[in-house]
Amino acid sequence: MQGLSPYDRYKPYTSRSIRETQYWHKLTPQLQEAMDVVARVMPFRTNDYVLGTLIDWDNIPDDPIFRMTFPHRDMLLPEEYDALKRLIEAGDPSAIKRRIESIWLRMNPHPAGQLTHNGVSLDGKILEGIQHKYRETVLFFPGAGQTCHAYCTFCFRWAQFIGEEELKFNARESQELVSYLQQHTEVTDVLITGGDPMIMNARSLAGYIEPLLTLPHVNSIRIGTKSVAYWPQRFVSDKDTLELLALFERIVAAGKNLSIMGHYNHPVELRQDIARQAVANIRATGATLRMQAPVIRHINENPADWAALWTEGVRLGATPYYMFVERDTGPSHYFAMPLARAFEIFQAAYRSVSGLARTVRGPSMSTFYGKVLINGIETVAGEKVFVLQFLQARNPKWVLRTFYAGFDPHATWFDELRPAFGERAFFFQSDAVTTPELIPVLLQSA
Ligand code: SF4
Repeated sequence: MQGLSPYDRYKPYTSRSIRETQYWHKLTPQLQEAMDVVARVMPFRTNDYVLGTLIDWDNIPDDPIFRMTFPHRDMLLPEEYDALKRLIEAGDPSAIKRRIESIWLRMNPHPAGQLTHNGVSLDGKILEGIQHKYRETVLFFPGAGQTCHAYCTFCFRWAQFIGEEELKFNARESQELVSYLQQHTEVTDVLITGGDPMIMNARSLAGYIEPLLTLPHVNSIRIGTKSVAYWPQRFVSDKDTLELLALFERIVAAGKNLSIMGHYNHPVELRQDIARQAVANIRATGATLRMQAPVIRHINENPADWAALWTEGVRLGATPYYMFVERDTGPSHYFAMPLARAFEIFQAAYRSVSGLARTVRGPSMSTFYGKVLINGIETVAGEKVFVLQFLQARNPKWVLRTFYAGFDPHATWFDELRPAFGERAFFFQSDAVTTPELIPVLLQSA
């Protein structure tokens, strides 16, 4: 496909190499300083397409794509920013490193028990890169897919990007995944995620996916990706695009559902011809494309933007799927908004779109216990409450159970909520649930 974009070759920019581009001089001295300080803590990466097409440079720093790409001093706490800046000026590498590490720890690098409660083992051996939180779904993090075409400043998986990545297909990982799945026939869905699996070349991706096609109990293969927005060339004009699309066709021909879980944050990401062509090319393979993203302060807090995104998605053939609440990790003090506000945004956007776009669910929190939907703010028995519901849960018996939390106009995350009506705990908060070794029992017993 020719002529859709002036950016044909993917070229990433780091916090160093961005200084050699024309864009560096568009940053104010304060924004350049923030790059010096904040980008030592949070990973920075972008590319020509994001810089040259998605960001409106006449509207910085408020432009939403600029905000989700470039660091801002307020993404650290004021005392953290000042202390780190002083250490950088003093030039003491080990003191800088210690300070950065203490900020990382403060930022809750592995939210919702990802490291402690979702891991799996096979024949007594811990398997790296596989998480099994919900009975029917396994998450797989291929070693070669742990980076992205650009990094989001709000990323909830930022801890994956600190350090060097091995961009090689790892056959051992693939074999371990298959062996695990052979023993877990309750698993119907495999979500390949990252980072961004679409950073891998088609051959590597095929190396991971093709062995799954022989497992009859695996019905669906999902691929979580932001490439549809950050590098749609992946599905249109990369040198192995045809090979990639042929892989998608093979997955569908093998009788599997292939769902591309597209991470779209803002309608501007679907306004480019190449982004629309990417949607068409994905759909032409027989794969489905779903749209999901968190609602984030400074980026997409306008209901009209969500309505425009979902409406355009439906027109192009992408299905609105989830609006998430920004997780309690990374610079969440900068990006998070009260849950009440997130609900208002969702409700206003949902009310303004047609029924075809009302496939979307939200706002949803990916908590330790499961995916909790904020389903309303009501007054029940004289008390103002959040009406909550599990869409997905560690224990399948909790799914679609409605429960109530006392209304708190300031709460930004599930952990800040308290049960309504004077209850001491939510129905699922028992010792059995919070004891790590009992989680697999819950998975089996449903
Ligand atoms: S694309 Fe996803 S994983 Fe990558 S930086 Fe953005 S939020 Fe994080």
